[in-house]
Amino acid sequence: MTKPDMPGLMPVEEAMERLMRLAEGAPIRERESVSLAQAQGRILADDLISTLDLPPWPNSAMDGYALRAADWTGEPLPVSQRIFAGQAPEPLLPGTCARIFTGAPVPDGADCVEMQENAEVQSDDRVRFIEPLNVGQNIRPKGQETTVGDKVLEAGTLLGPIELGLAATMGFGQLQVVRRARVAVLSTGDELIEPGQPLGPGQIYNSNRVLLCSWLERLGCEVVDAGILPDELGKTRAALGALNAVDLILSTGGVSVGEADFLGHALREEGEISLWKLAIKPGKPLTFGHFQGVPVIGLPGNPASTLVTFALLARPYLLRRLGVRQVKPLQFKVPAGFAWDKPGNRREYLRGRLEQGRLVAYRNQSSGVLRSAAWADGFIEVVEGTTVAQGDLLNFIPLSEVLG
Ligand code: AMP
Ligand code: MG
Repeated sequence: MTKPDMPGLMPVEEAMERLMRLAEGAPIRERESVSLAQAQGRILADDLISTLDLPPWPNSAMDGYALRAADWTGEPLPVSQRIFAGQAPEPLLPGTCARIFTGAPVPDGADCVEMQENAEVQSDDRVRFIEPLNVGQNIRPKGQETTVGDKVLEAGTLLGPIELGLAATMGFGQLQVVRRARVAVLSTGDELIEPGQPLGPGQIYNSNRVLLCSWLERLGCEVVDAGILPDELGKTRAALGALNAVDLILSTGGVSVGEADFLGHALREEGEISLWKLAIKPGKPLTFGHFQGVPVIGLPGNPASTLVTFALLARPYLLRRLGVRQVKPLQFKVPAGFAWDKPGNRREYLRGRLEQGRLVAYRNQSSGVLRSAAWADGFIEVVEGTTVAQGDLLNFIPLSEVLG
C-alpha cells in the first residue's frame, strides 16, 4: 500500500508527531538484567525505587568535632572518642565531644559538628569551641538524598555516568534495561565505495555508513551493517530480504524519487512506503515504510542531510521506541552573530558555533558538506518564513545533545 504524498512540505513538528505515533505503535519492550558496568548507554526498563535511606545515618560534612549544641559554654570539652568514616561510634558521653571526620556517622547524643578550624585544642587535649553552635550544623541528615520508596530514576531514562553513579549510591549492582535495538544500516548508490580503496572515476567514498553505524553504537544499538546497495532492484530486494530479526532498517540515499529509487520500489512490492517532503534543510526527502513488517526509514543521502535528519527525526523515533520520554534535544536561545535576509520555505539547521556569545554559521552550508558539522558545535535553527537580524535570539541545539 502506498500512501499518497502530503501536498506541500511537511513541517518538522508534524513529521516529529507522526514519528512519535509510529514509534509508540511499535515499542521495543523486551528487557534484560545487566550489571552496572554494562549499563552505560542503555535505557532503564523500570522506575528505580530506592531501597535505602541515603545517607543511612546522619554523618559529618566536615572534619571536626561532634557535640551537643547545648553543651557549649565557651569552656573546653574533653574528647571522648575518635570516629573515622567506616566506623560505628558509641553514643556520645554527655559533656564531651567526639573527634570526627568527613563522612563518619554522627554519634547518638551529638546534634552538631564544629569544623576543626573553629576549634582550639588545649594543652590538656580538651577542645575549646570559639563560637556558639547551632543544632544540625555540618550534619548531613539521614535520608537527605533519598528515603526508602523514593522514585529516583524513571523508566525510560538513558543511563549515563551520572545515573549509574546514582544507582550505585543506592547499592544496585544490576539494572533492568530495555534490550538493545537491532538496527540495520544500508547505504545505497552505485557511486559509493568504502574508504581505504582507491577512488575510481565518478565514485565517492561512503561516509554515511560509518557515521550512522558509530552513532547507533553510541545510542546503545546493535548495528547490523548491511553495506552498500547498488542501484538495482533485484539486489535491493535481496539485501532487504537477507536482513533478519531487525527492529529498524535505516537506509541513506535513493529517496529523492529519482530514477534510482530502488528502495522505494522494493518497499512498494513487499510492504508500504510513504515519501515525506519535509520542510527541513538540509534534508527534505525522507521515506517511512515497512519491509515485511519491519519499519524502514530512508534518510536523504547527502551527508549533512543524513546527519540532520538522523539527529532530529530518526534518533528521537528510535529512542521513543525504546521507551525514552525525553527524546527532544535541549536547545538554547542564543543571539545571532549573522543576518539572514531571505526567508526560506524550509526550516534550516545551520551547522554553527558559538563565538564570543554569538552564533556563527559555517561558511558553506551545502548539504554535501559534512565538514560544516565537524567545524560546528551545534545546529542553529532558522524557522521557515523568517529573517534574522544580528542579535536576534535563535535556537541552538548542541551536537552533544544528539550524539549520545
Ligand atoms: P541520493 O539521494 O541517492 O540521490 O543521494 C544524494 C547525494 O548524496 C548524492 O550526491 C550521493 O552521491 C550522496 N550520497 C548518497 N549516499 C551517500 C553516502 N553513503 N555517503 C556519501 N554520500 C552519499
Ligand atoms: Mg543515490
